[in-house]
Amino acid sequence: MSEENLFSDLEVRITEAMARCPKGVSNKTLLEAIPSMSTAQLVEILNKLISQDKIQILSKGKQLVYMLKDQKATKKCSSTDVEENLVFQAVERAGNNGVSSKDLKFSCNLPQAQITKILKGLEGKKLIKCVVSTSKKKVFMLFDLEPSHSITGGTFYSGQEFESEFVDVLSEQCYRYLLQNKTVAEKLTDPISQRNASFKSSKDICTYINGLKISKVQLSVQDIETVLEALIYDAKLEKSITMNTPAKGSENLYRVTKPLVSSVGLMRMPCGVCHVFKDCHKGGIISPSTCVYMKEWLEF
Ligand code: SF4
Repeated sequence: MSEENLFSDLEVRITEAMARCPKGVSNKTLLEAIPSMSTAQLVEILNKLISQDKIQILSKGKQLVYMLKDQKATKKCSSTDVEENLVFQAVERAGNNGVSSKDLKFSCNLPQAQITKILKGLEGKKLIKCVVSTSKKKVFMLFDLEPSHSITGGTFYSGQEFESEFVDVLSEQCYRYLLQNKTVAEKLTDPISQRNASFKSSKDICTYINGLKISKVQLSVQDIETVLEALIYDAKLEKSITMNTPAKGSENLYRVTKPLVSSVGLMRMPCGVCHVFKDCHKGGIISPSTCVYMKEWLEF
């Protein structure tokens, strides 16, 4: 096959792969889907498709994904006036990171009042939508796009609220899973096998957590790694990275750490941090004999 034919064949296969993934496809997935294609060939074809305005780049989590452009939406807008089309194209170029009306004013070189009017018209036609980011900034993007994590804050945000309880539950489940894994690993006699078995990859942890069905949405490996990184800062976990191989790439592995100092029971006593310590005495309204915190500590 000539080089030209090879490139057009790869281009068709890339376009087909993108058509199968309407939410976007990453470099890695494309290379896995077409094993005979080199990274250099992929980059060249992607650049060509971008310059021909056939695909758009979106950010999904920490990675970039490529998506076929919605030709229908472009056609719908091409029938409107020039200025409206100009604003629509600027919104389209912004991808799923969105663009503010202030930035549109400069990029389209139109008065703010006119930009606002055009945006309202495009919103009314359901060609674009307004999304409020976690930093309370209003941005505009194509109607069918899913806002990027930089706008929504990711899975752990509901609107502008950080879902701390949900994150706590995820952290607890991840830690419990790795603790169970450590207990199983400790039964091995060989110290090297014991160490290796005590680690789990973020992919395995993600599969386990999704299997528990504690989240309404499917969690990605990146979401789980965010939770695991927080547990590392809490000194509960440690991380190891495997060697980068062409077949598997590198993997992030996690295991439960051994605490540097074991906390003695006295350190966990509630009275040390109690706000009513001064008013607490035997026979008083606040008393150790009626204190629920003391009861819990004694039962621990
Ligand atoms: S016994 Fe309970 S109420 Fe009294 S100081 Fe301790 S924690 Fe506070």
